[in-house]
Amino acid sequence: MDDCLFCKIIAGEIPSTKVYEDEDVFAFRDINPQAPAPILLVPKKHICCTRAINSENSFYVAKCFEAIAKIAKAEGLDNGYRVINNCGEDGGQTVMHLHFHLLGGVKLGEKMV
Ligand code: AMP
Ligand code: ZN
Repeated sequence: MDDCLFCKIIAGEIPSTKVYEDEDVFAFRDINPQAPAPILLVPKKHICCTRAINSENSFYVAKCFEAIAKIAKAEGLDNGYRVINNCGEDGGQTVMHLHFHLLGGVKLGEKMV
């Protein structure tokens, strides 16, 4: 996608602090941290949001979660963490490229909102 911030980050056209990369997934530090381990995971394929996940691309979701397990271990999030996906306007999604927020390093509140 030409005009997608996260596609540009994946392509290296916009700088980011990479924490993990494989064939299908790219992970980098969030510039606006909401927890001590604010990492964003994105599939390398442009998928706008969870509304667009289907049997042909759900592979990328699985790959993101495999990466989450690896990154959490590498980041020392042994006591747990939270994975968040915002979808669409009501979900608070601001970048329309599917992504998962990995938050941890503190005891997070029980409420989601
Ligand atoms: P969301 O609100 O779920 O769409 O999340 C988008 C996230 O992208 C926010 O937490 C932003 O802080 C983060 N973000 C936006 N631009 C950048 C960037 N250039 N590098 C790293 N994170 C970014
Ligand atoms: Zn994109």
